[in-house]
Amino acid sequence: MKMNKAKVEEKQEIGKTKFTKEIEEFIPPAHVSTDMYDIEATSGDLSLLSKYHYKFKQDYQATHVVRPGTTEELSNLMKKCREYSIPMTIRAAGSSCYSSSTPTNGGVIIDMRRMDKIYEIDANNKTVRCGAGISWLRLIEALLEYGLGPKCYPTSYKSSCVGGFVVTSGKVGIGVLKNGIMKDAIKSVVLVKTDGSVETISRNSQGDLSLDDIIGSFGIFGAVAEVELQVSSLYTSMEMIGYSFKTFKMAVEFFRILKNNDTNRPFFLSLSDKNFEKYAHWTFPSRTYFVYAVYSDDPSATSQGVSFAKDAALKLDGLGIEDWYLKEKWRNLADTELNIGRWCQNLIFQEYWVSDNRIEDFYNFYTEKISKQKYRNAFYLMSGAKGGNRIKLFGLSDIKNSREFFGIKAVFNDITINNYKNKDNLYTLGVVNTFYFLKYDPERAEYLRKLKNKLDPEDLVNSYRLVKAKMRPWRVGLLFWIAKLLY
Ligand SMILES: Cc1cc2nc3c(=O)[nH]c(=O)nc-3n(C[C@H](O)[C@H](O)[C@H](O)COP(=O)(O)OP(=O)(O)OC[C@H]3O[C@@H](n4cnc5c(N)ncnc54)[C@H](O)[C@@H]3O)c2cc1C
Repeated sequence: MKMNKAKVEEKQEIGKTKFTKEIEEFIPPAHVSTDMYDIEATSGDLSLLSKYHYKFKQDYQATHVVRPGTTEELSNLMKKCREYSIPMTIRAAGSSCYSSSTPTNGGVIIDMRRMDKIYEIDANNKTVRCGAGISWLRLIEALLEYGLGPKCYPTSYKSSCVGGFVVTSGKVGIGVLKNGIMKDAIKSVVLVKTDGSVETISRNSQGDLSLDDIIGSFGIFGAVAEVELQVSSLYTSMEMIGYSFKTFKMAVEFFRILKNNDTNRPFFLSLSDKNFEKYAHWTFPSRTYFVYAVYSDDPSATSQGVSFAKDAALKLDGLGIEDWYLKEKWRNLADTELNIGRWCQNLIFQEYWVSDNRIEDFYNFYTEKISKQKYRNAFYLMSGAKGGNRIKLFGLSDIKNSREFFGIKAVFNDITINNYKNKDNLYTLGVVNTFYFLKYDPERAEYLRKLKNKLDPEDLVNSYRLVKAKMRPWRVGLLFWIAKLLY
């Protein structure tokens, strides 16, 4: 028996070497790595959950990190992986958490960030065609030369890539409230499907996959190699406003007034509590709840938006936030959520998708849940287009205190269940949150599962996302039940 196992391992080893040599024939060897540090660096994410997984499950970890530079290289790589039945994990900047882009079955991490070329900027028709691995920041800089800008992008724009936003839904971020969500801006994508075949998919495509299937797919149907986007002319003015409020009710009312003002829609809109301001910035203003909006348009429309906000805030006893703080806030917007990590050894968070009219109920349930908890917390809401918002709840914990870690996770679990019961859902699913999706949205999950079985019967690409879960609900339930008793 032992001999057999050794032989199997020996065969696998030969296979690995043979596989490595074969892919090095079409991808420069410098971009084919089996180095353990390279693998570690591309295997985790901010939610630190993958760290726990790799500690106990060595076989989750990849054996290769490969960085294709062109659609052809990507296609050949995926064909080769399919030939050897090697699992693939598509990864861009790794900023979408909950193990969205971390390996679960070993195999190859496909790092998309070499696919960062801009193929065409058409200033007349206001379109851009680029590699999916380009960061939003680089795209913004390139478009700037033509007086253009993306219609919307995530606040993680400094690192996160265009392809990552396309497949994680792109419903919340900068520009969405004014210009629509990512889906509205996509003209077409070039997709390398799970078998390595290449297909251009646009709104009128009649193939197996539609654009709607790819948006929010977390990469289970293949790798987006190129994206063609509608962009817009740069606005000629921009101004940020911020008001603080004594009560959550007043802050939400103000937030909704700004959100529903169709004449001057903010370019960016958020609501946060004092803890978020305290942990996310070096300094923070007084009062308890904060609404920030950025107006960007031609100068007269911008100033109309600003005065509209001022009038509305006055009626709700809003206190204007000083200019120096607003400047700091806007400059640091990309870092605010990351800054919270400075305050603890183990940052825990969950992201919820909450409809406009449920924000207060969500908040009341949340405050009731945390009223008996000792952990340090923070609340941050970012507006999506009309109808929905991403609420991010943070728990700051000590890595040595596992009771606290599981205690916070148990609170988030209760809130998640309540959220689904009220017809809302989670924003980021990844690997870890997929079991909630399977339980609470079985029809959508079944639709995706059928497509996945057809296109990727061996489940080699981005497995354990949306259609199949690594975690069992009863085990998670038991874990959180114990956690609540102990914490
Ligand atoms: C500070 C901070 C701010 C954030 N702000 C926002 C925000 O405003 N709005 C928002 O929606 N999210 C936000 N996020 C979440 C995250 O940044 C976004 O989801 C982002 O779009 C992910 O891009 P990425 O390049 O990091 O993708 P990754 O995290 O690397 O990948 C995300 C998922 O997409 C898949 N994938 C990546 N590239 C491709 C591709 N080319 N083809 C197929 N599949 C692919 C991966 O397998 C994975 O499942 C934020 C995160 C942080 C840390």
